[in-house]
Amino acid sequence: MELLKRKIIEEGIVLSDQVLKVDSFLNHQIDPLLMQEIGRTFANRFRESGITKIVTIESSGIAPAVMTALELGVSVIFARKRKSLTLQDDLYTEKVYSFTKKEESEVSISRKLLSPSDRVLLIDDFLANGEAALAMARIVENAGAEVAGIGIVIEKAFQNGGSKLRELGYDIESLARVTSLQSGSAVFAD
Ligand code: 5GP
Repeated sequence: MELLKRKIIEEGIVLSDQVLKVDSFLNHQIDPLLMQEIGRTFANRFRESGITKIVTIESSGIAPAVMTALELGVSVIFARKRKSLTLQDDLYTEKVYSFTKKEESEVSISRKLLSPSDRVLLIDDFLANGEAALAMARIVENAGAEVAGIGIVIEKAFQNGGSKLRELGYDIESLARVTSLQSGSAVFAD
């Protein structure tokens, strides 16, 4: 997606050869027009996949997920990282090792929100080693539902998440595939 790549080049900050900071439009401040375009692009790609729900993880997946959901006319479930008074029982819970925080945490979704008839599109902001996407996929599959696709805003193609998920047979769309951050700027696959 050209608009996204331009944003990454103009506003992305390469923190190391592994980590890209995009706080000005995705991870802290949100650019709504860019999110709208991201939503349209994911929706067009997965329009024929029979999607009934979108699943993401709080918080940075929510904006692209909602814009996609608006286009597809479905609801968004965001997996929650902390249990709260209102979300305690009857949960699907999976462990996720966070690439950026370097710690393990748990994500949960209420069992009431997923059913075996659901065809789910997973959406996330970044794909690195695939931990977050795999945790979401396990939750969906534990509910007896099907992962019908995975939409990633920025895939770091030099890490192994993309190949892991493709080998497992998931249908993945990444809107920007970064092949290197080594020169201090992002290099794209195409
Ligand atoms: P994975 O679970 O695929 O290893 O990592 C994906 C998750 O880690 C994403 O949900 C995102 O929050 C975070 N992440 C991974 N790499 C980056 C990065 O380079 N920049 C930012 N901002 N987040 C990242």
